[in-house]
Amino acid sequence: MSAEKFFTHIDLLRCPACGTAFSQQDRALVCKNGHTFDPSKKGYVHFLPNARPSKYDAALFEARRRILEGGFYDAVIEAIRARMPADPAVVLDAGCGDGTFTKALAAGVTVGVDNSKDAIALAARGGNPILWTVADLTRLPLADGSVDVILNLFSPAHYGEFRRVLKPDGLLLKLVPQSGYLGEIRALMGDRLRHDSYANDAVVSHLAAQFHLLDRVRVTNTFSLTPEQARDFLAMTPLTFGADPSSLDAAALTAVTVDAELLIAKKQ
Ligand SMILES: [Zn+2]
Repeated sequence: MSAEKFFTHIDLLRCPACGTAFSQQDRALVCKNGHTFDPSKKGYVHFLPNARPSKYDAALFEARRRILEGGFYDAVIEAIRARMPADPAVVLDAGCGDGTFTKALAAGVTVGVDNSKDAIALAARGGNPILWTVADLTRLPLADGSVDVILNLFSPAHYGEFRRVLKPDGLLLKLVPQSGYLGEIRALMGDRLRHDSYANDAVVSHLAAQFHLLDRVRVTNTFSLTPEQARDFLAMTPLTFGADPSSLDAAALTAVTVDAELLIAKKQ
C-alpha cells in the first residue's frame, strides 16, 4: 500500500543513475537499462547506490521536529504558502530533511528528496501520500519539466537539476537564513563560533545568476523559550556542530530569533 503511490506516479519519476524512464515490474521500479529500485513498505524509495552514514542522528531529528512543530516557523511557512501558486500539480521539496515543512506545504503530488535515509525514514513514518525519496540533489529522480514548484528550504541547491525538472513557468521558492537568524545562540557560543553571522549575499547572487529572481520576502520573529525548547534548539542547530551542546548553558538561552528570507525565482 505504501509503495503503491510510486507506481501511481511512475511517469513523474526517472532513473537517477541513467536518466531513463521507469516501468513497473512486480513491485519494483525498473529503468530501460535495468537499474532496479524497490519502494519500501515504509513509504519511501532509496535511490542512492550505497547507504551513507548520516552525520545527523535520530535524537537530533527528534529535537528538530519538536522545534518545527512548536510554532517557531509558522510565520515562515505562511509566507511560503502565500507565494505558492493555487493548486500546483507537482511540488518538489529539494532537501526536505525530516519532512516537517514538506507536510505543511504539500499540494498536488508532492515529492520529498533528501540524501539522509534517517531523515526520510522519519518523514515517511505513519504513512502519508508524499513520495519520499533518498536521493542526491545533483541527480534528482524526476522527469524533465515535471515540477510546478520547487521548495528549497534551509538546504543547499543544485540549480542545473532544478532547471531540468521545473516546468517552463515553474517557480523556485528558496528559504535562506538572514543576519539575525538564531543570533541568541551565536551570542551564547561566543568564541566557539565558526562564523560570526549568516551572510547570504553570495547565496542570493548565485541564485540570481542562475534563475530570474522575482521577489524577496523577509520574515523575522523573536520567541521566548522554555528550558526544554532551549535544549532542543541547541541540539538541532548546525551552528552548535563542532561545539559540544552540553558545554553550552541552555538555561541562559531564554529567547531565539528566527530571521529568514524567502527568495522567489523563475527559470530565466
Ligand atoms: Zn537507469
